[in-house]
Amino acid sequence: MWIIFILVVVVFWLIYSKKNAIKKSKYKNIVPLGYKLFYTDQNTKEKEDNVIYKKILYSEKYNIQGKPDYIFKRFNSYYPIELKSGSIKDDPMPHLGDLMQLVAYFIIIEDLYGHRVKEGKLVYKDYCFRIKNTRRLRKYFFKVLSDMRHMLKTGKGNPTCSFTHCKYCICRHTVCEFYRKLS
Ligand code: SF4
Repeated sequence: MWIIFILVVVVFWLIYSKKNAIKKSKYKNIVPLGYKLFYTDQNTKEKEDNVIYKKILYSEKYNIQGKPDYIFKRFNSYYPIELKSGSIKDDPMPHLGDLMQLVAYFIIIEDLYGHRVKEGKLVYKDYCFRIKNTRRLRKYFFKVLSDMRHMLKTGKGNPTCSFTHCKYCICRHTVCEFYRKLS
C-alpha cells in the first residue's frame, strides 16, 4: 500500500515539475519585470553604458561559448533570452536544439558571473517558452555535450534518428547520413 502511495506521489511530482519547468505562453514581452539590460547581441544604434554588446561569452570550465540575444540582470540574477525566427505552432515543447542552446547559456553565465541562472526564455514568432534551469535539463545537456564530443573524436555515435526527432534539424536533408538511411 505504501509503495503504491509513494509511486503515485513520485509520478505526480514528475508530471508537475516537468509541466512547470517549461511553460509555453502567448505573452511575448521579452523584458522580465524589474530587470535591466546587461548584454545584447542585437545591433543597436545607441550604446548604453554598463551594457555588454556582441561579445562572445566563453566558459573556460566547460569549453563552450555563445552569444545570447539578450541577458537581463537584476541584482545577482541573470536572465538570458533567445529570439527565434520561426514559429512553434501547436508544438507543446520548444525545438530540442533551441532548448539546449538556452541551457548552454545558463551554464556559461554561471561560470562567468558566478551565479546560477534561475530561468530564461525562448521567444518564437507566435509563442514563447519560459524555461527553468532544472537539474534534469542540465544533466541532459551535459549528456548531449559529451555524446557530441565523443562523436567528434571518434566519428562514432548512436543518434536517435526518427521523422519526429529530426523534424527541425538543418542536417536532415543535407549532411546527415543517418536520416538519409531513414528516408
Ligand atoms: S537529422 Fe541527423 S543530425 Fe539531425 S537530429 Fe536527426 S540524426 Fe541528428
